[in-house]
Amino acid sequence: MAKVIRAGKHTTRAKSVGAKAPAAAASGRRATRPSARKGAAERSAGRNPERVQAIVATLAAAYPQAECALHHRNAWELLVATILSAQCTDVRVNMVTPELFRRYPTPQDLAAAPLPAIEELIRTTGFYHNKAVSISGAAKKITAEFAGQVPRDMAALLTLPGVARKTANVVLGVAFGIADGIVVDTHVQRISRRLDVTAEEDPKRIEQDLMAVIPRPEWIAFSHRVIAHGRQTCIARKPKCDVCPLERLCYSQDKTYWSDAAKDAAHPAAAAAKKSANRRAG
Ligand code: SF4
Repeated sequence: MAKVIRAGKHTTRAKSVGAKAPAAAASGRRATRPSARKGAAERSAGRNPERVQAIVATLAAAYPQAECALHHRNAWELLVATILSAQCTDVRVNMVTPELFRRYPTPQDLAAAPLPAIEELIRTTGFYHNKAVSISGAAKKITAEFAGQVPRDMAALLTLPGVARKTANVVLGVAFGIADGIVVDTHVQRISRRLDVTAEEDPKRIEQDLMAVIPRPEWIAFSHRVIAHGRQTCIARKPKCDVCPLERLCYSQDKTYWSDAAKDAAHPAAAAAKKSANRRAG
């Protein structure tokens, strides 16, 4: 898809690296936002397989050790910690869970715990009443219907209170090594859009877009790496584009720095003209 790229004073229409301009943009008609509901040819050119592969490989090289930041010793603890991490930092969750798991180490223990006692222990994670209801409900269901074991499949996980696809993907990927989907948290959401791998806003649709272009063996590590990238470099308000390993592949409208390589990649015709002029001059 053609993107309006703003670098400093420049406002230019350009196409992505190795991408073909869509018909609407080429003909001067206003380009519409690509959608997961449209055909592949109409989707964002940022989803070009070579470009996506370069993004995946660059993230792998930049964040080889990226992993889940929530402390846990088993699938049950990870499930609880992930539910508690909604609208809360992992650091804060990690401060709360040791005492919670010391007092109620198993689903059976938590299922028998009074709600006010759970609320008191998780109060600082925010939305503590709803979260207490969710983890207590999940504990009861796991105890009653899954023999005290966290289920290993998406459909069963989604029946647990407080569990949607993001939490289920975290548990399946991190605790069991099962790549059933891709974790789409706020970092993955923002960065996938900045990198033009999706134009969607709904996490479920973003996940579908990512699953269609990221090789399945990369699904689990990809989200860990994107989350690490979001925490360290591609920050929401002021991304550190000048030190970003993906900079030359990125043509996000809110970039804070443009290298010559990125400009050339985003404006291939202008780069070719400049090269040819230099050849003639020199
Ligand atoms: S270049 Fe900037 S906006 Fe693009 S991925 Fe890197 S930090 Fe994020």
